Amino acid sequence: MSGNEEFSGYKGEASEAIRKAEAQIGDMMRIRKDGYVYEGILIPRSEYGDEKHIVIKLKTGYNIGIHITPNTKIEKTGKGTKPTFTPPPPPEQNPKLPKVTIISTGGTIASRVDYRTGAVRPALTASDLYSVVPELANIARIDAQILFSLFSENITPKHWTEIAKAVAKQISEGVDGVVIAHGTDTLGYTAAALSFALQNLPIPVIIVGSQRSADRPSSDAATNLIGAVTAAAKAPFAEIAIAMHETPSDNTITLHRGTKVRKCHTSRRDTFKSINSLPIAKIQNQKIIMPTEDYKKRDPARKLILKPEFDEKVTLLKFYPGMNPTVIDWYVKNEYKGIVLEGTGLGHVSEYCFEAIRNAVKHNIVVAMTSQCIWGRVNMNVYDSGRDLLALGVVPLEDMLSETALVKLMWIFGQTKDFEEAKKLLKTNIAGEFSPRTLSEKIGSE
Ligand code: GLU
Repeated sequence: MSGNEEFSGYKGEASEAIRKAEAQIGDMMRIRKDGYVYEGILIPRSEYGDEKHIVIKLKTGYNIGIHITPNTKIEKTGKGTKPTFTPPPPPEQNPKLPKVTIISTGGTIASRVDYRTGAVRPALTASDLYSVVPELANIARIDAQILFSLFSENITPKHWTEIAKAVAKQISEGVDGVVIAHGTDTLGYTAAALSFALQNLPIPVIIVGSQRSADRPSSDAATNLIGAVTAAAKAPFAEIAIAMHETPSDNTITLHRGTKVRKCHTSRRDTFKSINSLPIAKIQNQKIIMPTEDYKKRDPARKLILKPEFDEKVTLLKFYPGMNPTVIDWYVKNEYKGIVLEGTGLGHVSEYCFEAIRNAVKHNIVVAMTSQCIWGRVNMNVYDSGRDLLALGVVPLEDMLSETALVKLMWIFGQTKDFEEAKKLLKTNIAGEFSPRTLSEKIGSE
């Protein structure tokens, strides 16, 4: 995302074709190939891109890479002009409104596209935000800071630590709510990480993303951000929650608990779903609706407990028919401390993995079981394979999402080196990662 925006990244055949068309990054192009005509703005190529594709941004907002062949006709149809963007002065801050800090980590929500170059840049200074989403000024006094400018697939546990510390700093300065702008791909992992790292929260911490960037007509960036800031400013709960669209078409924003949420669709605006749990809240027509009593209440006097360390020597392994159990031996040899298995059904892996699991447990590696089913609860007492795995020392993780289990175990080993203590913490409900049996049996069963 970052880098020198003037650097086009084209090389070899692609760069030669662009040179012949006398085009530059940002120019309007028409490319004809195999009876199709593509029109759009020439945008830079990733530095890892091959030499055979030219990338243009279509009118729809999508980028398309076109493979250059001897029959491809490339012409420049117009010259790019650099847009001049001067944000309007920030509106007067209303001293009666709550204070909300927006911490930007990157992703689509935090970006704006420079149409001349196609480069995507972080845009979340307070004045940029007001110019793009002026409604925010009626909801809260906004302060905005850029912590990272990363696509979320590049976020690691070290970034979770930095985000947790940045939120803690804001809380110590007395803000009424914090919003974190984040790419949607790994937003669920960060939400789980913060749920363990920031305990005893006095105020809401809302993580928000968007599926379509703000420069596209169908963008959900503004509505999600308004929802997130509304929740941060006024919601009665004090938890980590994700604010995103409830359905593809309406303007209801759902707030999902940070440990119980998964990205479920590659492109739809309602991609996030609460799994084995009800959402904490919804926002409709700027009103916050609390469907249940099951939430930690906002209390500015409460003292935050910050535990931001994670240990990356934990892995998540999805079992599949034919899986080679020696991968488990590799983790043992490389001194991993925990293995979360994503087993089949009620929590099974094949008996040909048992020996490797026995060996891992013998080496004091915590081995835990989640299910690759989305809904329901691990129950390892029903079938022999489950009972055998329990006898080997595998820890069943009820209805916990496998990615939440991974993050939790990383967090646990950030707190302790002790095998028994780690197992005890793993079974303790710390941030709503386990739902009550009565609730999760009803959810997803329709
Ligand atoms: N893959 C990127 C990310 O997760 C962009 C998609 C998005 O922001 O939702 O950061």
